Amino acid sequence: MSLDNTSHPGRRSADELVPSRYALKIGDIDVLVVSDGVLPLPTAMLGHNADAAVRAAWLDEMFLPPDAFDWALNVVLVRSGGQTVLLDAGLGLDPDLNLPRAGQLIKRLEGAGIDLGSVTDVVLTHMHMDHVGGLLVDGVKEKLRPDLRIHVAAAEVKFWEAPDFSHVSMPPGFPDALRETAKRFAKEYRSHLRLFDEEHEVAPGVVARRTGGHTPGHCVIRMASGGQGLTFAGDAVFAVGFDHPDWYNGFEHDPEEAARVRVRLLRELAASGELLVATHLPFPSVGHVAVDGDHFRWVPVFWDY
Ligand SMILES: [Zn+2]
Repeated sequence: MSLDNTSHPGRRSADELVPSRYALKIGDIDVLVVSDGVLPLPTAMLGHNADAAVRAAWLDEMFLPPDAFDWALNVVLVRSGGQTVLLDAGLGLDPDLNLPRAGQLIKRLEGAGIDLGSVTDVVLTHMHMDHVGGLLVDGVKEKLRPDLRIHVAAAEVKFWEAPDFSHVSMPPGFPDALRETAKRFAKEYRSHLRLFDEEHEVAPGVVARRTGGHTPGHCVIRMASGGQGLTFAGDAVFAVGFDHPDWYNGFEHDPEEAARVRVRLLRELAASGELLVATHLPFPSVGHVAVDGDHFRWVPVFWDY
């Protein structure tokens, strides 16, 4: 069964009109971007090293509100060589942080006719709660296969044993929630973890590569088949990162390195012409990267129905 954009009549689907999934093919690989919902976050987090007036001007030019706006939260499902691979898992539930419009992944996978028991592998770009939390929702683990493999960089698991929050700039409550969720996740899924150092082919043509920066074990996942390529960049790139790649995002644990990772990745994608999808770019977040001197430009694909 291939992944598609059409609804499945007769199947229980979410009673909402919000577009929540977008399917495309990369050669022989099926790719489905699924929205986990949105996270309203304060705008200072876009670039805590930026001048407040310059940040305000960027928001104004983008027709975004000055204080807080909704960040998209995208997850990707991939089918290749008989494997079904989930790239990240969304936020799940966090009653303490009041983020009720995220954590939609499980419902939306069901709406797309995807059985959790069909997932053979999960790849985590990193262990922030908006990327692992979906697996901690009540009842989810019981629906997953007992032999599910969860691929994550060894450096990421090590980092969360004693995480350094000295360079981040997050709203109150977030550091504790992130620490707690990562710890719970590592404990709950320890026997499923498959650690890699720098690079790992998870399924045919689906390769995770550690970048570091955002977190020490942050990785991106490139899908390549039939001369086409798409990179899921996790949190290496944010919406502001094309105009201001040197702005420090509040969630970055090593913001200087994160900025270097971002520029390198955007240059690579601009040169190759391959597609980019990233967790927090506006849904469905499928597009190309153009470059002009030191500035990048996000060019979303035309929707294909
Ligand atoms: Zn994130």
